[in-house]
Amino acid sequence: MEPALHRNTWLEINTTNICYNIKQQQKQLPPGTVIFAVVKANGYGHGAVEVARTAIKAGAKGLCVAVLDEALSLRAARITVPILVLAPIRAEDVALAQLKDISVPITSAEYWQKLVPFISAEKPLKAHLVIDSGMGRIGVRTATELSSLEQQIRQETFVELEGVFTHFATADQLNQVYFNRQLRVFEEMVAVLKERPLYVHCSNSATALLHSQLQQSSVRLGIGMYGLSPSPEIVEALPYQLRPALSLYSQLIHVKWVEGGETIGYGATYTVKAPGEWIGTIPIGYADGWLRDRTGSQVIVADQFCEIVGRVCMDQCMIRLPQRYPLQTKVTLIGQDKTKQLTADDVAHYTDTINYEIICLLSDRIPRVYTE
Ligand SMILES: *Cc1c(COP(=O)(O)O)cnc(C)c1O
Repeated sequence: MEPALHRNTWLEINTTNICYNIKQQQKQLPPGTVIFAVVKANGYGHGAVEVARTAIKAGAKGLCVAVLDEALSLRAARITVPILVLAPIRAEDVALAQLKDISVPITSAEYWQKLVPFISAEKPLKAHLVIDSGMGRIGVRTATELSSLEQQIRQETFVELEGVFTHFATADQLNQVYFNRQLRVFEEMVAVLKERPLYVHCSNSATALLHSQLQQSSVRLGIGMYGLSPSPEIVEALPYQLRPALSLYSQLIHVKWVEGGETIGYGATYTVKAPGEWIGTIPIGYADGWLRDRTGSQVIVADQFCEIVGRVCMDQCMIRLPQRYPLQTKVTLIGQDKTKQLTADDVAHYTDTINYEIICLLSDRIPRVYTE
């Protein structure tokens, strides 16, 4: 859907902060290690094409996405750097990936067998072997499987084995026991390859931040690029202060005095306290990704915290104001007001989830404004 450009709710994306996070990360890495910016899920809600352009300007050498369509829209936006799809594409789409120069993961012998009949002879297929070193999601799990798959891939004329990678399950935890085990498995398995591919990579943001000195050709930087910590528990251990790029704002579209005892919203679940309260309405709801679990959480109006009262509706929700405010008064849902701020982590903490989920869910219906 085209973003609505005519409403009182909007996202502000600070591209300077994205650049800053990338450049700080680059400084941590051994010379020659390149950054692939992860822009799946519409750039974690920030807008994939804009983030991709910003990341490339800041020095990222490639991009990662989760599904082929995301890669295709980047190519349609004339972005020419290497793009890797992180999850298996449909076998019948492989020629399209080849045509658009999009790299794909090879996750098992069975998948490879399905792919082969669809490989076109016009352009090389760029492939990354996936090793499941302990995530339990996709990829081969033994050295024997890996060797045999490598051999089969290398026999295929129109395939360029460009990479090999794995993904960590616990890199965002302070306890590194499981992480170290996965790292050892990955290194041992890569060592059995006949030839080391161009891109050997294992780091997500947590790994790139906490284990920046790992020797590898590239890292996959997602959440850190957007200026958020991969988990609350490693904030203190981060090598530099991340700068969040995303703010979410709305405006009061309705303000009224409600007498004590009256109720607000679906289900009439919130009862106004005596003698009465100022209640404001803001145009954001669960269809925008501002979910129903936010009832009772805070927003900021005129530098004061205000509570969301009643159930969040599909397109609107109500807040309790300390006093009357004029229509179009700014409401901060994520971001900084004068002295108070709300972070994606605050929202995640309130709703018992992770910051990734809060930002990814912000829907296309919210216009995104880019600032420097
Ligand atoms: C999403 C994803 C990443 C990025 O993870 P962050 O924690 O956001 O840095 C990296 N690698 C793979 C395989 C992923 O699926």
